[in-house]
Amino acid sequence: MPLVSAPPRPLSPAERERRERSFRDGLRERLPELDAERIRAGEPIGPYTTFQIGGPADVFFEAHSADELAAAVGAAREAEVPYFLLGLGANILVGDLGFRGVVIRNRAAHVAVDRATGLVTAESGAVVWPDLIEATVAAGLGGLEHYAGIPSTVGGALWQNLHFLSPPPDRERTMFIEEVVESAELLRADGSRVTVGRDWFDFGYDYSTLHVTDDLVLSAAFRLEPADPARLRATVEANLEWRGARHPPLDTQPSAGSIFKKIDGVGAGRLADWCGLKGTRIGGAAVTERHANILINAGAAEGQSATARDVRHLIGYVQETVEREQGYRLSTEVGFVGDFGELGALPPAGWEDADGFSGGVPPGGHPEPHRDAERR
Ligand SMILES: Cc1cc2nc3c(=O)[nH]c(=O)nc-3n(C[C@H](O)[C@H](O)[C@H](O)COP(=O)(O)OP(=O)(O)OC[C@H]3O[C@@H](n4cnc5c(N)ncnc54)[C@H](O)[C@@H]3O)c2cc1C
Repeated sequence: MPLVSAPPRPLSPAERERRERSFRDGLRERLPELDAERIRAGEPIGPYTTFQIGGPADVFFEAHSADELAAAVGAAREAEVPYFLLGLGANILVGDLGFRGVVIRNRAAHVAVDRATGLVTAESGAVVWPDLIEATVAAGLGGLEHYAGIPSTVGGALWQNLHFLSPPPDRERTMFIEEVVESAELLRADGSRVTVGRDWFDFGYDYSTLHVTDDLVLSAAFRLEPADPARLRATVEANLEWRGARHPPLDTQPSAGSIFKKIDGVGAGRLADWCGLKGTRIGGAAVTERHANILINAGAAEGQSATARDVRHLIGYVQETVEREQGYRLSTEVGFVGDFGELGALPPAGWEDADGFSGGVPPGGHPEPHRDAERR
């Protein structure tokens, strides 16, 4: 589905309330056994994202099975209330003012592994690492071990065609989860449930058909190959080690992974690095020293979380700097979800930079030697 289903014009508060009531009624009709307390109001979304940033959802519901997920989405569609389907929140930034409508968090996580045929089926809220990968490695089935350490649900992985430079030690190519996708059960925009093959997804780099349809994934089937569990575990460990050495740890430096889309043959992170942007900080948001394409919520560890506004300003600052100094316009890979309020212009002062200046871009841009050092 596109990032967010929303009506063309903002709804009045009264109309919003009416539609949300109608969503609650519709959901309870579809799931008569449902404990009404599971439909919550004003739940902060930040804690459900890896960035740990974002305001409250007007209505929040956690779906624990594919049927509950289909019921919640069906009820939201029928009530014409805007909804957002949330996985692990690892590829999104939620606005400070939250989400006007229903956030459906996907926790449908049943997994079945058929060791004999190599077929693994997983509901779309199943967590790829560690749950799905641990289950398949233990069964001696290979194909998913490359994605160890990446925060993702199965649905998010298909949405974005999860990928990683693997296998170790050569890491000669990017591997994509599409390589092991056999089929998926979709909830179509018209409410029907259909099973489609891999081709339906038209997978690309950071892309699948899910970006441009209102269909969503209820479950997926992966075709894996028999493999020695010890070898699979070695790949898992090597990939965790590789990531640990290069990426900021999520528990102390929350992030959404790479913030900008890759630029073929150049690398978005490298461009930002050539501009000396590592360490640049706005409010609680910073470009991590480890990787210039990863912005972190540095404030989280200091007890004062970054705001979504800080992150948007830092994104804008990096884009402007890279475009001016390197001639490339970076575009964002993460999805912006919900209400960001008035973002305002980039502040004229207040940058903190790795090169030790503050008060905006230094006259003449960032120091040349910094960039040359990286080019060598
Ligand atoms: C530290 C870190 C490292 C990362 N490293 C990598 C990496 O190496 N490789 C890589 O590819 N990515 C990486 N990412 C990005 C992220 O892990 C992936 O994009 C992941 O697939 C997001 O999954 P999610 O469940 O969190 O989706 P979310 O962020 O919750 O949602 C993303 C989008 O998917 C949609 N969606 C979710 N579930 C479904 C569904 N069932 N059906 C249809 N649409 C759905 C959502 O509506 C939303 O539009 C990294 C992120 C972090 C934080």
